[in-house]
Amino acid sequence: MKLHQVKSHKRQYCKDAIVIVSLILLIVMAMLVRPKAKPIVQRDIEQAIGIPYMIDTIPESKKRPGQHRKIKYIVVHNTANPISTARGERDYLMNITNTSSTSWHLAVDEREIVEAVPLNEVAHHAGSAEGNEHGIGIEICESGNYEQSEENAVKLIAYLMKYYKIPLSRVTTHQNFTGKDCPRLLLDHWDEFLEKIEVEFSGF
Ligand SMILES: [Zn+2]
Repeated sequence: MKLHQVKSHKRQYCKDAIVIVSLILLIVMAMLVRPKAKPIVQRDIEQAIGIPYMIDTIPESKKRPGQHRKIKYIVVHNTANPISTARGERDYLMNITNTSSTSWHLAVDEREIVEAVPLNEVAHHAGSAEGNEHGIGIEICESGNYEQSEENAVKLIAYLMKYYKIPLSRVTTHQNFTGKDCPRLLLDHWDEFLEKIEVEFSGF
């Protein structure tokens, strides 16, 4: 082999090595930067479940730290307020007298669903780090036609299970995290509620 051929081969080896190292780096980076949970698409969810879905997120604050996360649970609550609507609950988050860091993702009433914190971000509703960091907090309103609100929650939860690949075993209560009497109107028929979700889920 002549000298210039050896040099040309060496150059080729160098180029190949750079390409291979670059590819390995790209793969490692892709593994490190895991894809974040996707946000809800309003039109898609409304089409699927037939309930108005309002996205009206609060600005970043101690209620909404803006921390992206992996979603593992759906955590169900009641508002413990017999007269508030989903809209009213959302407005209360922005009330200047409300200085607590407590928040939630979704409030559902007899007519609509309101999203106050993007589902792929942390909210403070479960009273435990695990529940807050990995749970979607759903407030079922107690006002108006409560049975209808629960029916709406069933459809909403079934959709979220499918969208975020959450098994029924991870649809849980606030009580499960802290022992609190929440969702207070639902605990006495929780298993029935889960059965309805399972039926709804099988329809998607
Ligand atoms: Zn609760």
